[in-house]
Amino acid sequence: MPLNSLIGQDDTIGLLRGILKTGVIAHCYLFSGEDGVGKTLAAHEFAKALICRETEADSCGVCSACRRIDSGTHPDVQVIGGDDRQIKIDQVRLIETCLSRKSFEGGLKVVVVKDADTMNPAAANAFLKTLEEPPDSSILILVSSRSDLLPETIRSRTQKILFYPLPKTEIEKVLSAQSVPDAELRAVLSGGRLSKALDPNLCRDRDEFLKGFDMALRGTADADQLWKDRQDIDEWFDHAIAWIRDLMVYKSSKNPSLLVNADQEARVKNAVKDTTLKALSKLLSELFRLRQLLRFNLNKHLTFQHILMQLKSVLR
Ligand SMILES: [Zn+2]
Repeated sequence: MPLNSLIGQDDTIGLLRGILKTGVIAHCYLFSGEDGVGKTLAAHEFAKALICRETEADSCGVCSACRRIDSGTHPDVQVIGGDDRQIKIDQVRLIETCLSRKSFEGGLKVVVVKDADTMNPAAANAFLKTLEEPPDSSILILVSSRSDLLPETIRSRTQKILFYPLPKTEIEKVLSAQSVPDAELRAVLSGGRLSKALDPNLCRDRDEFLKGFDMALRGTADADQLWKDRQDIDEWFDHAIAWIRDLMVYKSSKNPSLLVNADQEARVKNAVKDTTLKALSKLLSELFRLRQLLRFNLNKHLTFQHILMQLKSVLR
């Protein structure tokens, strides 16, 4: 899949192809944007386009170099991160070693760092040194959905490439082409993240969230049940923010077509009966604030209790 076939990121892909066309390549790029909008795939394809010699400003996808990059066996393309673990200093040292030797095939050497924000402080420090004294003919591509967590010293040395949520219509088109059921609902629930929209559990997870949310409000579910791991917490906040946003939208517009949880009009209607727009707005701000703080390892149980209190005061 060459760059020009990536879906829903026309401006960003246009920018990348423009960079390839001019041949003015920066030493380090930072691909940033929400999870599931195509950053990692674009980084892979950009790496291919940098190495492939068959197609102008893109990759051909079929030459030996392209095929080896696809299978992860090209000696001049290294990938680290993206495995739900911290990136450690040993991995950064390994890419330093790879970058410091000559290119195997006489072209560029490319390193892709997935989930770059998961570098631990020692790894980030080592990485910064590589950025400060870049080896010849080497290109680094950092990928991150939480780029604000990267040290400013690293961020300031990168060229930022921003990825945005995909338009709903684009997502619907892809889902319909693959005969995925509930395409319209999935397209809105996914919030513009194609990988989310394609997640077979998307609707079930949302239903589970609503069930857990009600149970928490009634005092029959606790933090250990609803927030089993880091991913649960992230997803809970995504759902909760979308839900409270829906309540606000409905409270002010009474227009069900604007809801993310488009199939839940009756529930939304019932939830906003005894609350005010102002209280919901305050609650939403608090959810955003806590989500930011949770990145810094806030105590799970205390945070849950705090949120529950806020929720109960607004949604009786
Ligand atoms: Zn090729």
